[in-house]
Amino acid sequence: MPKQIVIVGGGFGGVQCAKRLRHHLSEDDCAIVLFDYENHMVFHPLLAEVAGASIHPDAAAVPLRQMLSTIFCRTERVVALDFSHKQVEYEGHLGARERLSYDHLVLACGGDVNMGLVPGMADHGFPLKTIGDAMLLRSHVIQQLEKAEVTTDPEQRKTLLSFIVVGGGFSGVEIAGELNDFARKCCRYFHGLSKKDIQVTLIHSRDKILPELSSLALRDFALEKMQKAGIQFVLNARVVVITANGVRLNDQRVFHGHTVVTATGNAPTNLIQQTEGPKEKGILMAEPDMRLKGLEHVWALGDCAQIINAYDGQRCPTTAQFAERQGRQAADNIMRVIQQQPTRPFYYRPQGLLCSIGGKRAVAEIMGIRVWGFLAWFLWRGIYLFKMPTWSRRIKIGFDWAWDLFFSVDLVYFTPKATERLATAYYQTGDYIFKQNDPALNFYVIEEGEVEVVRKTKDTHEESVVTVLGAGDFFGEMALLDKRPHSAGTRARTPVRVLVLGSQLFMHISETLTPLKTILMEAARKRQMSVWQRVPQAQPALEHKRITEFVETPPCKPVLATTTFADVLSIFNEHHMEVVFVVDEAGLLKGLVTRTDLFNAIADGARRETPIQTFMVQNPLSLGKNEPVELAISIMRDRHFKWLPIVDSREIPKFVGYIRAQKLLEVVLTRL
Ligand SMILES: Cc1cc2nc3c(=O)[nH]c(=O)nc-3n(C[C@H](O)[C@H](O)[C@H](O)COP(=O)(O)OP(=O)(O)OC[C@H]3O[C@@H](n4cnc5c(N)ncnc54)[C@H](O)[C@@H]3O)c2cc1C
Repeated sequence: MPKQIVIVGGGFGGVQCAKRLRHHLSEDDCAIVLFDYENHMVFHPLLAEVAGASIHPDAAAVPLRQMLSTIFCRTERVVALDFSHKQVEYEGHLGARERLSYDHLVLACGGDVNMGLVPGMADHGFPLKTIGDAMLLRSHVIQQLEKAEVTTDPEQRKTLLSFIVVGGGFSGVEIAGELNDFARKCCRYFHGLSKKDIQVTLIHSRDKILPELSSLALRDFALEKMQKAGIQFVLNARVVVITANGVRLNDQRVFHGHTVVTATGNAPTNLIQQTEGPKEKGILMAEPDMRLKGLEHVWALGDCAQIINAYDGQRCPTTAQFAERQGRQAADNIMRVIQQQPTRPFYYRPQGLLCSIGGKRAVAEIMGIRVWGFLAWFLWRGIYLFKMPTWSRRIKIGFDWAWDLFFSVDLVYFTPKATERLATAYYQTGDYIFKQNDPALNFYVIEEGEVEVVRKTKDTHEESVVTVLGAGDFFGEMALLDKRPHSAGTRARTPVRVLVLGSQLFMHISETLTPLKTILMEAARKRQMSVWQRVPQAQPALEHKRITEFVETPPCKPVLATTTFADVLSIFNEHHMEVVFVVDEAGLLKGLVTRTDLFNAIADGARRETPIQTFMVQNPLSLGKNEPVELAISIMRDRHFKWLPIVDSREIPKFVGYIRAQKLLEVVLTRL
């Protein structure tokens, strides 16, 4: 008789496994320990309803210890598995790592949302996996409506009222339907919004939505009804980047919107990624009886495992329905092992699929029968109500649904003031990080890429680029320090990644760290003046001139990144150079090396044969040859640069030469 069975994960599979094991084994027979870092089970099929405010958040979460009163529930995270010593390692409540032995181990830890699919997804996408995700999305949608009500900029209003869903599988379709219903229902409580202002767009990589359904007729029905409800579908298209302002597709189309919901599938959890064993795409390949190969006492089920269904010889889909069955049958097999009987392969005849599409409609395939429209929706609600694991949740949800039928939509949203923290944000070329006159909310440091500072002229209101900032530069500080709106806007000049510090955190650090304060004051002083205010003598000689008139060819040709330290050193000595530019085979600017970089490389242990790519300045700040010369002066003055590399254009950064401060000075002196 086993002393201890450990289950990792209190979701659909883990909970059913624990219940069934307790049904077979009394508390005296065996201790069952269930680990889950959340203290509740999330009923995922109802998350879209939480986001769409049809039910309250707590109705879709079931407290584990109340549901499993005879199981020892530990709200802790399992961080490693040691199969050879039959132990799990977990993060104890005091933060220290501890170990627990098992006789049988059940892995039912589900999957994580894959937020690394495209650049910007983790920073700007809204996943839907936890109760917190659903609550955040709901609050965010209401906030967008509130902002749209008061904004005077029509473009901004359109972006605020555009909601984008990426992924046309079950969860993507359900959330698109819910968001569309919710946002449109809300409109009547806003003076300036009407239903036709709301635009929900669903982007899907295939030619038809809902690939989980076998019936083409049902898939077409869902598409047609959702289109009629105002949802826009973009099919056969892939999102390649997500920014704070929307998405770009593989065919270069751009869809603007501050709300991008990602419903693009699962990724294996960290625990499963670290676990050794047969895997495919990071998911554990279990034997037909759900054991891991060669490990008699380790079982894997649900979304973290791939199991062949003996009913049809197919791989089980990652659904709650299958996870529950696998949990129960794994418990039965554990009992068979204990009683020294042969185990049985997983066998389950699927009951069907149900998907709500909004507007009190659904599509369903139940036991081979197709149902659609209101009847399917009614069945959908009935079946999920019945499937809730406890009566308290069934009553709660039933009450919420009844409330929703008779009373108007609830527009309250809460923004709990959490401690501010650092975050990174990603912007595409041309995206505004903030506009002139926007309120000051954050301080930004550029990690990668270039940002241009733009200001509107007083008379024509046309925007012109004042300066360009590169990696390591910062912005946003002036407005924060002066407690006023931004006097200039900032726009991504190339794809850019910035570190964002909230205003409170920024003020706190800048007030305590004196050197930072000094740097900020100096930068603020420089930025307040236009370049011609700073060098008034140069204005008549250089204003309205283009860089191309001043470009010079460096005394030595640019080199490749594979050039060695020794070779670049001899170039420096031969040509008395201050800088050597680095290009690729196509002549595109890739970096530069200065004498200081050479000294630093020696200090870091560089050898004669070390390639310069290991220590060169990567992707240095550069300007296009047709840009105004005042931009070059501004950049060189602010950073004390003596020269600046010049490329063909921003789009084609082919190295054409460099511009020197000395040369500009000579021109000014000659004219004077
Ligand atoms: C938005 C959405 C809608 C869905 N709609 C449907 C639907 O309509 N019908 C359907 O059948 N399926 C649906 N699914 C899929 C279904 O929810 C999953 O297939 C199911 O949850 C898988 O069950 P599981 O037990 O494997 O994992 P989960 O239910 O995800 O449970 C895993 C648990 O493990 C815990 N955990 C993870 N790692 C650790 C660790 N290291 N230590 C401790 N605990 C850990 C997690 O906190 C979690 O509670 C939906 C999924 C989503 C996201």
